[in-house]
Amino acid sequence: MKFNDMPYQRVAFDETVQQYEELETAVRAAQTPEDAMAALRALDDMGTRVNTMYSLAYIHSTKDTDDEFYAAERDYYDEVGPKLGEYAQKLELAFLQSPHRAALEREIGPLYFSNLEIAQRTFSPAVIEDLQEENRLTTEYQKLMASAQIGFDGKTLTLAQLSPYHRDPDRAVRRASMQARADWMLAQSERLDALFDELVNVRARVADKLGYPSFIELGYDRMTRNCYGPREAARFRETVRAHIVPLAAKLKEKQASRIGVERLTHYDDAFEFPDGNPKPTGTPEDIFAHGKAMYHELSPDTAEFIDFMLENELFDVLTRKGKAGGGYCIYLPAHKSPFIFANFNGTSDDIDVLTHEAGHAFADYQNRDVFPSGLMSPTYEGCEVHSMSMEFFAWPYIEGFFGPQSGKYRFMHLSGALTFLPYGTMVDEFQHLVYENPAMTPKQRNDTWLALETRYRPWLDNDFTFYGEGRRWQAQAHIYERPFYYIDYCLAQSVALSFWSLCQKDPNDAWSRYMRYTSLGGTQPFTQLVEQSGMPSPFGSDALQEAARTAAAWLEANEV
Ligand code: ZN
Repeated sequence: MKFNDMPYQRVAFDETVQQYEELETAVRAAQTPEDAMAALRALDDMGTRVNTMYSLAYIHSTKDTDDEFYAAERDYYDEVGPKLGEYAQKLELAFLQSPHRAALEREIGPLYFSNLEIAQRTFSPAVIEDLQEENRLTTEYQKLMASAQIGFDGKTLTLAQLSPYHRDPDRAVRRASMQARADWMLAQSERLDALFDELVNVRARVADKLGYPSFIELGYDRMTRNCYGPREAARFRETVRAHIVPLAAKLKEKQASRIGVERLTHYDDAFEFPDGNPKPTGTPEDIFAHGKAMYHELSPDTAEFIDFMLENELFDVLTRKGKAGGGYCIYLPAHKSPFIFANFNGTSDDIDVLTHEAGHAFADYQNRDVFPSGLMSPTYEGCEVHSMSMEFFAWPYIEGFFGPQSGKYRFMHLSGALTFLPYGTMVDEFQHLVYENPAMTPKQRNDTWLALETRYRPWLDNDFTFYGEGRRWQAQAHIYERPFYYIDYCLAQSVALSFWSLCQKDPNDAWSRYMRYTSLGGTQPFTQLVEQSGMPSPFGSDALQEAARTAAAWLEANEV
């Protein structure tokens, strides 16, 4: 079904509660494993309906943040979502306590239930009001960031529309555009400080009520981290600091001399080549036409997938006033359809839509028939492997997007994959420090960020008041909206770099391992997915170092 034909109807609270209660009774009364399985199927069908409506409301409200109808629907779900949680929890508990659990596990594996056990810990009716408050605060953050109307270059621009100017070959334009961004952010700083303060408080309160020592443990449970904990994450960050930061510093030093500046600032950071970063050569139509050709050449599975996406108009990529920033891929279970949202801006980011976001969508499409649907997708770091690796599998076809600038694109992509790691792990460490010390003042949080900058990105000058005060983190939506969602990108990058490295030796073997990984969907924990597809674990002693060494050698040999 085409996206615009998908009907939307609000999920009615009373009716849904009634269905949860009926199902709970059915599970408790199940005489045979077949009865219990039938209840599990009914629960799955219900989830399909609820999630589809929620996702539709989400998509429509981000397509147009001024749309009052869908904004009200979002507010409604922010409000009833936590209340429904109470009934969902009771029903899930009935499954966990069912005498037929072992029989069900024989059919669908144990992971579904162990993930439910984690979810049980993250909720109790005592925190409903707190969760509603948390929802309101994150929605307010999203609205505030989307509301930016910045006068620049004779236009009125959103934050997303301003970004391409930060990569302009004219340093004065880069500087002025970054100043405009920093000034706008600084003008919001009081609200941004207060919002985050309220978020930290409410999260600490929820953790306390649920009996967690701090929000960190709850944050991990909310991410359904079922195969590693804070200790493993800390060790990974250590590897990044010891082995990736020095490598990134060297790459950044070379970048500075390539573009002819003494020291990199925030307005130089994304500017890679003196004559400008590689840009897509065609129109959005050309980009989609080549994307289609690429997926047709890559494999029969990806060919079927891209045809489905295009036929059903499952992309919204053009930037408009009032459209929310950023990009995402979301799944509409009732239609077995992924949907991709982006803001094309004429830079190489546009190609990511067809490589990164489409990587997520491909995995969803591949696993559309998995039952229960809770096992369709792995946890987030597992999902980011789908997308970040797909970016590298697109390399042989990159000429169709960048023409003569393809060499520059590959160089920038690979070096960016390495230099991203310090930033990504810094965001993770920041969140650990913040939630370890929930009483920190806003000023202490900013100071913490600045101290991390000197450890993780010592090459970067923090000019302009916004950066100088250590506020860069306030522009990182995940920190407000999805706590502890960030190390995921770094762990996934480690696996993606291993795929890249294998591609250099044996692309067919790399693709077949990728398909093995992707076809497992979410039926295994992340570390198992990696192991079963024959890839080295990012928590292993040297997977990241090994891949980074190969990448560094490639960058040395292919410097543009
Ligand atoms: Zn992603």
